[in-house]
Amino acid sequence: MGAALLLLASTAAAQEWTARPVRVAIDGDFAPYSFLDEAGHPRGYVIDYFQLLARRNGVRFSFVPFEGWEQLYDAAVRREVDVVATMVDRPERRSAFRFTRPYLFKRLVLVARESEAGNIDPGDLNGRRVALVRGYNVSQLLLERFPGIRPLWVSRTRAALSAVSRGEADAAATFHVAALWHHARGLSNLAVAGIVDARAGDESIAVRSDWPGLVPELERVMAQIPIEEEIELRRRWLAPAELGIDWGAVRRSAVSITVVLLLITLWSLHTWRQARLLRRERVRLTDTVAELETLRETLEQQIAARTRELERKATHDELTGLGNRSQLQRSLESAMNDARERSGTFALLYLDLDRFKYINDTLGHSVGDVLLTQVSARLREVIDDPESIARFGGDEFTIVLPGAGREEAARLAGKILEVLTHPFRVGDLKQLSLRASIGIALYGEHGTDTTTLLQHADSAMYQAKRNRRGWSFANERIVGETRRTANIEQMLLEAVRAVGRGQSPFELHYQPIVPLKGNRPSSYEALLRWPAAAERGMGPADFIPLAEEIGLIDNIGAWVLETAVAQAAAWRRTNHPFDRICVNISAMQLADDGFEERLERLLHECGCSTGCLALEITETALMFHPEETLERIRRLHHLGYEVAIDDFGTGFSSLSQLRSLPAHVVKIDRTFIAGLPESRPDRAIVQSIVPVAHALGARVVAEGVETAEQYRFLEKAGCDAVQGWFTGRPAPPARLEEGGLVTSPPPH
Ligand code: C2E
Ligand code: CA
Ligand code: CA
Repeated sequence: MGAALLLLASTAAAQEWTARPVRVAIDGDFAPYSFLDEAGHPRGYVIDYFQLLARRNGVRFSFVPFEGWEQLYDAAVRREVDVVATMVDRPERRSAFRFTRPYLFKRLVLVARESEAGNIDPGDLNGRRVALVRGYNVSQLLLERFPGIRPLWVSRTRAALSAVSRGEADAAATFHVAALWHHARGLSNLAVAGIVDARAGDESIAVRSDWPGLVPELERVMAQIPIEEEIELRRRWLAPAELGIDWGAVRRSAVSITVVLLLITLWSLHTWRQARLLRRERVRLTDTVAELETLRETLEQQIAARTRELERKATHDELTGLGNRSQLQRSLESAMNDARERSGTFALLYLDLDRFKYINDTLGHSVGDVLLTQVSARLREVIDDPESIARFGGDEFTIVLPGAGREEAARLAGKILEVLTHPFRVGDLKQLSLRASIGIALYGEHGTDTTTLLQHADSAMYQAKRNRRGWSFANERIVGETRRTANIEQMLLEAVRAVGRGQSPFELHYQPIVPLKGNRPSSYEALLRWPAAAERGMGPADFIPLAEEIGLIDNIGAWVLETAVAQAAAWRRTNHPFDRICVNISAMQLADDGFEERLERLLHECGCSTGCLALEITETALMFHPEETLERIRRLHHLGYEVAIDDFGTGFSSLSQLRSLPAHVVKIDRTFIAGLPESRPDRAIVQSIVPVAHALGARVVAEGVETAEQYRFLEKAGCDAVQGWFTGRPAPPARLEEGGLVTSPPPH
């Protein structure tokens, strides 16, 4: 707790928090959520809810009540307040506000006088006199749905309900809790005539858009409110609304309501018929009663079964039959309660298929769909409780493992990856091979609320994907818990210091990129080597992301560039034939404003032109700051550097996005080459990338070419150049100058 406070206090957002009270606009006519009591003090569920938030992090809120919604909204847009306590998140409002996740869920009902309620058809209000509150979205909605309404405009909810109570209007539409609230306060002749909308606009907290940091802070605290306190609060203000039928189960679907009503009608009809029989015959009385009782029971069971089915539909994904996001939310909550009770832990696995987007794009969605169902089936094989698996989005899956700790989670992640390695069969495609990446977050260690856990698991997944490690624990690199990581961090720091003293422990090796067409000489990709890390089994793919994480990549990247440019200058001097030296540039380096200038200075010092360098930028780099990065790439392109999109296909862009990437070269990632030429999907992917890249004026380089068959296939497919062990492994410059390692192209 102490540590958490410290952390909170250290964030900029938290400092803003505590500087002055946060001004919260509330709707003074939104009982029981928010309203003003006789003395004019703000009261209601929302006020108490904010008080709960305040108690959790010591923030002061000052409430600013408004008479009506319109005034409130205008004032909030003018930023006279910092926060609006309740607002529905709508796209058109997003320029002025940022929204937290919803915390109030309202049901919109039609209210009539008790004696009239049976005569009003909520499905057709045309011709009816309906009290509408001016400026409310609901009023607009009703008028659009039933243009024949005869509106009676009023300015407040209470006035609308009073008009109905006095018989001046046939009906009014309000939120269920509001109707119950006023019903209990003097308008007792009112009744609910029907449901207009079972889930009418979930309310979030809206924060002025120039204070975006407040949203995660609020959400963090919202997530910390214990469920018991929230229940207590609901009981205090909203309890009457929770009585009666459990509409929660059926509210998601209008179909469900219709079905239930239909069943009830059928039942009543039946009952009524039976009752008539009963009255007429007055015989076999006991039998009939028993029959009625059975009938009632059966109907109740049917309703329950149908409700369960509908509920299942609402929480499950149609394609795979796995849970969906709401199911995940439930699994997380139940695992969390369990973990809290037993002070234990649980694991959340976040799985993402690596090349799914490409399979979908090149082989079609039907293939993608079949593949997803097959993946789900395999997940079910490995996970004991299928209800704990959810499909989170397109090709993303989550698995909640109650009670599982580090070892168990890692073991299962390994097992999942293992079952996914066997090739899939979709129609006549026999060789579809997939890879997946899994991120693991542990309750307690990486977070204690669903949002944080999901974020951590997601970023761990991304980490695993980037490092091609299969699976990865949350925050492992940043937290640096494992000794190994801590050691490497320390080593990296010392290595960078040594670089500063001119004693680099790093080396650059160069791997030829051999043209298949034309008569240019080969280019060389500069690849970083660090013998000390290699001894511990770590390659650049392991320590470079770590260097990025701890902010050392700029220093290392600068050294790489200097060394590569010096090498280019030396080779030009000695007439060693080469086209360009290709240098890997990390996203962090690109984000640095002085990048071009420093590069230019460097080239100038060594007497090289921009023409001797190519910059390899991974597709995933574009994910960090897409706009700025794109802009920088365009400038570099313009300055005469060759720009290559590295690891093409592993990231998140698609072929069509190539259009906006000003690239000279596209390097197809080696995972697509590995399956060649046998794998049909891989063939299809390569064959579709080549013409598109060519049409956009880019050359295509295939990475990781290891065999003569791959070489020949790529040559036929129209690739411009290949890189891989087949044509030459990365080697120190001296070895390349001997010429011994660059093999000549194979015999055909
Ligand atoms: P990359 O840019 O995709 O580099 C190609 C990787 O493929 C290199 O791994 C190379 O050794 C390996 N490779 C080349 N031919 C074959 C082959 O035929 N078969 C197989 N299986 N692999 C082959 P390496 O050297 O371990 O580098 C890994 C990654 O580390 C690189 O991937 C690159 O993203 C990063 N990296 C390396 N040097 C630098 C650097 O100086 N700066 C930055 N920012 N990243 C670097
Ligand atoms: Ca590269
Ligand atoms: Ca690459």
